[in-house]
Amino acid sequence: MLSGYYFDTSAFLILICLAYAFFIQRLNKVEDNNIVFVALFCELMSALLSIVYYLHPLRRYELVVPFYISSWVLTAVSIALLVLFLYINRAYNIGIWKPVVFVGLPFALDVLFIILASFNLSSWARTAAYCCDLFLFVVGLNILYVYKKNSSMERSVVLWLMLIIVITATVVELVLPDMIIQKFAMSLLLAEAFFSLKDPEDQFDSETGLIGMATFKDDIRRRYYYLKRHGGSISMVLLMIHGSDSFMRLLGEVNELKLRQSVVNELLRLSGGASVYRLQQGAYVFLTEKGERTEAEKIQKALLGRFDSTFGNDAYEMELPFSTCLIDVPDMAPDGTSLMDLIHVALKEGRMYGKAVVDLESLDLSTEEYLRQVDEKVRHAVESGNLEVYYQPIYSLKEKRFVSAEALLRLHDGDMFISPDIFITVAENNGSIVEIDDYVIQQVCRMISERNISELGLRYIELNLSVSDMLQDDISGKLTKFVDMYHIHPSQINLEITETSDDAFTGVVEANVMRLSHLGFNFSLDDFGTGYSSLSRIIMMPFDIIKLDKTIVQSPFVMDTEQERRNAITLLESSADMIQQIGAETVAEGVETAEQLKEMERLGVDFIQGFYFAKPMPESDFINAVKAMNKR
Ligand code: C2E
Ligand code: CA
Ligand code: CA
Repeated sequence: MLSGYYFDTSAFLILICLAYAFFIQRLNKVEDNNIVFVALFCELMSALLSIVYYLHPLRRYELVVPFYISSWVLTAVSIALLVLFLYINRAYNIGIWKPVVFVGLPFALDVLFIILASFNLSSWARTAAYCCDLFLFVVGLNILYVYKKNSSMERSVVLWLMLIIVITATVVELVLPDMIIQKFAMSLLLAEAFFSLKDPEDQFDSETGLIGMATFKDDIRRRYYYLKRHGGSISMVLLMIHGSDSFMRLLGEVNELKLRQSVVNELLRLSGGASVYRLQQGAYVFLTEKGERTEAEKIQKALLGRFDSTFGNDAYEMELPFSTCLIDVPDMAPDGTSLMDLIHVALKEGRMYGKAVVDLESLDLSTEEYLRQVDEKVRHAVESGNLEVYYQPIYSLKEKRFVSAEALLRLHDGDMFISPDIFITVAENNGSIVEIDDYVIQQVCRMISERNISELGLRYIELNLSVSDMLQDDISGKLTKFVDMYHIHPSQINLEITETSDDAFTGVVEANVMRLSHLGFNFSLDDFGTGYSSLSRIIMMPFDIIKLDKTIVQSPFVMDTEQERRNAITLLESSADMIQQIGAETVAEGVETAEQLKEMERLGVDFIQGFYFAKPMPESDFINAVKAMNKR
């Protein structure tokens, strides 16, 4: 009697604390958590009933029966819910029959035996009820075992331990019915389940309320694990809205918020119940419960239809530039890491060409094996000596000679090259970009010094820096170190940066730009016109040069209709005009034909970089080409 009272009171106290914590953290947002909450509530009620019983022992038989039934059934419910929680939390697409056979059925039997035992207090029925409990716990152990890779090692170990403790407690209670400790052990298990729940703040993206990146990675890991065990494939839809940050900045804060909300509402409406994840600004993934290809196609079609028309209301209305693509896993990406790489490649591809549908299969780079190989090569690129810096001369229209050059990195793959658009993206994702760019910085400094480029008539070399480089605190120290080491002047290096798509980073990047600029380094804004460069940025930062991206340079020459061609020219003219007005110089990239060159001359562009004059080439060829051109 005493032991029962003691354990039940302790269980009750633990559960009260947990319930309090639940409300503090408002975990009720998440479905899985509700299961734990209901289990907790049942267990709490059961413990409460026991305590009431200790305080006022019931004498009348008619009251004892419903008391026992309710108290035990509540415990049985919470056991069954916990096992169900393990199932749902460990594996997607478990189907219906497993939970029914392994959880529903034993639970029903459990309740049946509880009722029988309560009526005639027969010991065999009570034993049978405990056996059902034990069965459920063993199912729990089995789930943990089967899906062990699905969870961290520590988490699994603690859950295992807790399950073993409840099993032991149940056996003890079965043998010694006076030792009422099962409920106490259950409350420990509930506590563990509670702490394994995730904070909803981590699960949801604070700006949109959609599911965030961390949860996406988690869910994907589980999906992959399921696919590995059970085969099959799933499809998802990737939606990219291009340049959303600059677009939205133009609208002002209030309208930006409204627009974002209306876009999110539309995405949810078009999703038809699929989960919508927000991976980063302007990047969303739609994933249905079953991940069927037909469902994904339906969503993609709905998106294509909707984005054809404008967003917003009477105050403002705009078309949003976007791309979509279908991703099948594991066909296109065998694991979570390669999926993230693939998504990044798709984002870059979508941003570059702005096509409504990006066909990943037509980009032969997307084959998962290839990406994995690239990843492997990129990680060892510096030490394996497969990197080489090429130089593409830049022509001055005024001086009629080469005055600078851009350093462009090449990754050798046997006799072939891997395109920088791919390997740089992969390097940015796996973190090796910093080491790779260090290599480029050093090579460029060495070249400037060894070849004495100012004697060749070259004022500076343009060097590409990634956002990850610009996010380092010591980037200025690093650049200064190499500049000093090779006795060159910072003004002989012009740093090209593209705009980051993530607002959170811009502060750090700007601070680094200012610091480097004071040290004498010059800056170019790369890829102007691709949607990621915003006008406000150009005014705020000390760019000496703005580089018109090849897509907008070539755009007048690839348009189908005369109207489109005229629009493209207007865009070019006003861009060139604006750059002149703010006092920066212009480089036109991607000039391939005499016709394009003429157009750039008409626009008053300062410098030309393109195949028309020269392709990127190895160092010695580059030096010869510059000598040949500048001698004339
Ligand atoms: P980017 O900075 O926009 O570089 C210009 C790209 O345009 C180069 O592509 C160049 O080969 C190409 N290009 C130049 N003229 C023409 C032309 O007339 N027609 C056409 N179709 N293309 C032309 P590349 O070398 O493939 O590099 C691609 C991108 O990879 C670069 O774009 C840059 O973002 C990145 N990248 C290259 N080297 C480095 C590096 O050392 N570090 C970093 N972080 N990124 C790099
Ligand atoms: Ca560049
Ligand atoms: Ca560029």
